[in-house]
Amino acid sequence: MLGHRIGASIVIVLSECFSPHVAPAQERYTQIGWRGAVDREDRVRVVAWTCDCRSTVYELCHAGGQAHTRRTSRKKAEPGIHETFRWTFNDADKLWAALLRGKAR
Ligand SMILES: [Zn+2]
Repeated sequence: MLGHRIGASIVIVLSECFSPHVAPAQERYTQIGWRGAVDREDRVRVVAWTCDCRSTVYELCHAGGQAHTRRTSRKKAEPGIHETFRWTFNDADKLWAALLRGKAR
């Protein structure tokens, strides 16, 4: 439920998360080759993202006919922005799904 009714007005509950969270990494997961963000494309379109309430946010990006995943971390141990290599949309979608299920990290 997005909100509850008090009198005639709707109160939106802001503490709810609307974006997915990545599942905890499974015992056997694929290690993603993260590298420093490269400012290669002029226009990057973020087509999916994980919830901002976590210290690490992942974004699925489309740019220049290819796709990659961007990881933005606020953790002290691994701060900053990292990205995967550029792949086809299909391969990037598979990695994105694995990431959300904890099968890749
Ligand atoms: Zn959240």
